Amino acid sequence: MAEVKLTYEWGDGVYTLLSWFKKEKVKNARVLVAGAGALGNEVVKNLALFGVGHIYVVDFDQIEISNLTRSVLFRESDAMAHSYKAEVVARRAMEINPQIKVTPIVGNLFSEVGFGLYRSVDVVIGCLDSRIARYQLNRLCMRAGKTWIDGSIENLTGAVRVYAPGVCCYECGLSREEFNNIMLRTGCADVVRTQGKEGRVATTPISASIVGALQVQEAMKVIHQDDNAPTPFKTLQGKMLRYEGMTNSMNIYKFASWKSNCPAHERWDNIEKGEGLSASLTMKETMEQVKSLLAVTEVELNMRNNKFIDVIATDHPQKEFEVMVPESKLDAYIKANKELRQLSYKTLIHKHFFENIGERFPYMNLTLQEIGFPPYDVVEVTTEKGVYHVELTNDAHLYDID
Ligand SMILES: [Zn+2]
Repeated sequence: MAEVKLTYEWGDGVYTLLSWFKKEKVKNARVLVAGAGALGNEVVKNLALFGVGHIYVVDFDQIEISNLTRSVLFRESDAMAHSYKAEVVARRAMEINPQIKVTPIVGNLFSEVGFGLYRSVDVVIGCLDSRIARYQLNRLCMRAGKTWIDGSIENLTGAVRVYAPGVCCYECGLSREEFNNIMLRTGCADVVRTQGKEGRVATTPISASIVGALQVQEAMKVIHQDDNAPTPFKTLQGKMLRYEGMTNSMNIYKFASWKSNCPAHERWDNIEKGEGLSASLTMKETMEQVKSLLAVTEVELNMRNNKFIDVIATDHPQKEFEVMVPESKLDAYIKANKELRQLSYKTLIHKHFFENIGERFPYMNLTLQEIGFPPYDVVEVTTEKGVYHVELTNDAHLYDID
């Protein structure tokens, strides 16, 4: 029998019956999903079923057996193979809907995802399980001017909150104690801290699927936002929806918080496109190109989300190690080094690092990526004429962005 080739457009005859559904908007939409755990699985599955054209999924973690109870896209074989969550989620979502593209990014959402990607998506969905990650994601979304939809689950309950620039900010809503806790974990610049996991909470597949579904429903509303025409939706912008499975209740609370002096509200609007710039260029090449692009003679690249560490020193025994990695890769470096791995937990490890990289940086032949700028990032540059933000535009193709 001859092979019959199916020709169809995803959602035809189904979504086309919905008066509010705009097929072109959904097909052309880009959504960034931060986290590929229980919520991330549900969120990506639903985005794929809706036919959202391009999904980017970020997670640095590998699959474990315990994830299987509430992650619809994972299989036992993935846990055995210690596969990366983001990669498996991407592959399975494209099996569900072969007409979309899902790009996995294995890495940290703060230091290993180019800021250009945050700027180019329609909406960001947070599927995270720690306050630090939410704090960091909020900073990037506010900087990029993007709405982000936060989901959280615990036992039979769950909550969805929608943060948007000018309306509601995660950092503004933190209590002093919560804020101090985050600073304790992220703040101390020169001492190594392995990122301890926050206490694990028990979750169920039910709360994950309910919260993940509501997050995608809110994302669809953002995708359909139209400044020139009214939409029939009420959104959760500046609100929290809380679902309580024990008692079958669902309530919406106002909780918008936007303070005037919050550092998270710094918006990067004026971005210089660096058409020839890429994270694969060396520091030396980059400096030359940036000087000519901005018509300046002095440049210093400021690392806002990462640091470059050349040497670490332990106090007991007193020893130096030449590491040459971005801070985001230091944990992995320490775990992979037998001598460092076996040190007592009491040993202090000091880092020697670079945050602002100017003419006197000693490693000019390293690439931006080796130093800790991800592809398609936006680099803050201080010059004699002021501060600029320059995009590594030549990397856009890595994310299918023209
Ligand atoms: Zn704020």
